[in-house]
Formats: sequence, C-alpha cells, structure tokens
Amino acid sequence: MERKAYLLFSGGLDSIIAAKLLQKLGFKVVGVHVTSPFFEKEPEKLKELAEKLGIELKIIEAGDDYLEMLKNPVYGYGKNVNPCIDCKAYMLRKLKEIAGDEGVIATGEVLGQRPMSQHMQAFRSIEKLSGLKGRILRPLSGKLLPPTIYEEQGIVSKEELLDLKGRSRKRYPEILRNLGIDIDNLPTPAGGCLLTEPSFAVKVRDLMEHGELTWENVRLLKIGRHFRLGDCKLVVGRNAVENATIRKILSDKDYLITVPGIPSPDALLRCKGEPERDVLRIAAGIVARYSDAKNEPKVEVAVYRNGKLIERLEVEPIRDTTPYSVTHKGS
Ligand code: SF4
Repeated sequence: MERKAYLLFSGGLDSIIAAKLLQKLGFKVVGVHVTSPFFEKEPEKLKELAEKLGIELKIIEAGDDYLEMLKNPVYGYGKNVNPCIDCKAYMLRKLKEIAGDEGVIATGEVLGQRPMSQHMQAFRSIEKLSGLKGRILRPLSGKLLPPTIYEEQGIVSKEELLDLKGRSRKRYPEILRNLGIDIDNLPTPAGGCLLTEPSFAVKVRDLMEHGELTWENVRLLKIGRHFRLGDCKLVVGRNAVENATIRKILSDKDYLITVPGIPSPDALLRCKGEPERDVLRIAAGIVARYSDAKNEPKVEVAVYRNGKLIERLEVEPIRDTTPYSVTHKGS
C-alpha cells in the first residue's frame, strides 16, 4: 500500500529537505502550503518547485478564522504581531483537514532554529493546540525529539531521521548532496511574513484596535501611506502603480480623494459609517500636501464616491503630518 506523508510546505530549504527525506523513506509526499495576504509566496514558483521535487501540492487560503486567532493568540505574539505558535497550529489544523486519518503528518521544523516557535516547549504547544499530540513528525530533528506515534508504530525508524539543531547551516551542503538536491536548479519562491515587520505591525494593530480587521482591509495595508482619522482610514498612493491599485479596490462606500489637473496622489478614505465634515477636510489637506500643489496656500481637492464627483473642497495642505501621526478623535 502507498505510504503518504502530508508535509507543511513553505517552499523554503527546510521543507525541501523534509520532502526529499520523506520520499527517500518511501512516502508519497503531499505538500500543503497555507497562504494569506500576510505571508504570500509566488504560486507559480511554488508549483514549479513542487513539480521539480516530484511532490503533490495543495495551496490553501487562510480564512476568517485566522484573523480571529490573530486578535487573541493563545501563546501570544513574537516581537511584532506574529503569533508563530498559534499560526503553526492553525496551518497544521488545515493540513489535518486534508489528511484526515490518512498518512504521516510532517513539518520541516528544526529544533532551536527559531526563538519563538521552534524549541521543545513550543513544539509541545503546537501539538496541543493543533490536536496532534505525538503525531507531528519533524524529520530534520527527529533523532533529538521524543518518539512520535509513527516511530512507536514502526512506520518510520528514528535512525532514518536527522539530528539538526540550531540555526547553523554548516551541515546542509552534505545533507543536500546525500538527498540528491541540486538547490541551484530549484526555483525559490520569494516572500516573507509581514506580521514580523515592525512598520506593518503598527498598521495591523491599528486595525485590531478599531475593530476593522478584515481581509479586505488587510489587503489595503500593503500599499500607500496610512493615516488614522477617528473611525476612518486614509490611504494615500505613493506612485502611479499604487494610485491604480487604489482605484481598482475602491468599494461603493469608499471615497476617492485627489487634486484634479495636477500631479497628485489618489487616496482612499474608508470609514465606519459616514465621515464627519472635518475628517473629509483633514483627508483633503493631507492629499493636497502630497500633490504638486503642496506649497500653495490653498488647494482645490476633489472628492468622489461611487464614480461620481460629490464635492470640491478648498483646503490648506497639511504639512505637519507623518503617516499615523493624525489621530482625529471626532468632535
Ligand atoms: S513567521 Fe508568520 S507565517 Fe511564520 S509562523 Fe510566524 S506568524 Fe506564521
């Protein structure tokens, strides 16, 4: 009977090694890749990589339940808003949904490689939270870890596993050679995790504090300069590509603000309910400040909604703001 292993597959070096090692042990490998706007890798490169490795690939989108977890992770955050232990457990729960009761569940984790999520206690927490106690095979460090049910049932033997520990990559060339991995000829899907970036974390926290953490709003965080104006968010495009993106993602309820007739950013104003009058004026003043009319005493700014011009506002450019420095609290 075919032996299957379901591997949490990031496309990074450790998951490549895990895939090849599992294949060497006789498993048919199914790579499960969980993606979200926070951590995205180029899907085409992932598919190409999976093909070259000879593994099946399943790509799953994180759902609203990921955002729920992010608001209140059981094991807290790392340095920024990265809930690594809960995040790993989330991914493994998704993987388990695919695997059912079939096959071995595995990851490319290395003991001691990452401070938050890859030490012995973290491994136990991930197993508990994902409901996979004793059922996660970590073949790269398996020799150093307590036996999983797969070893207990004789499905794999400890001797066949590796004993990698820590961050050093000194032994990798030899391991790659032994597994016949020609890393130079494999595609490398780019992309890190935005939740670990301080400037992105500020914007995520702002959404959480205002009860606005939705995927639609998270996608907005990837572009533009961001300003908080009470119950509204202003996103100001920084170049032609971002301006075009802003126009593309405008919803019927959003406002488009721009300075007509001169080079100007496009900006999106998204509010819970209707914005107060002075919020519109502040938003217009910020947009004017980033336009070519920034040194004029007064600038005429156009406000559109749903494709229609709703008003023109004459405002002074607001020069003393930096993104997130405006925190209008309402009158
Ligand atoms: S770095 Fe990001 S993607 Fe990776 S485990 Fe942590 S939160 Fe999840």
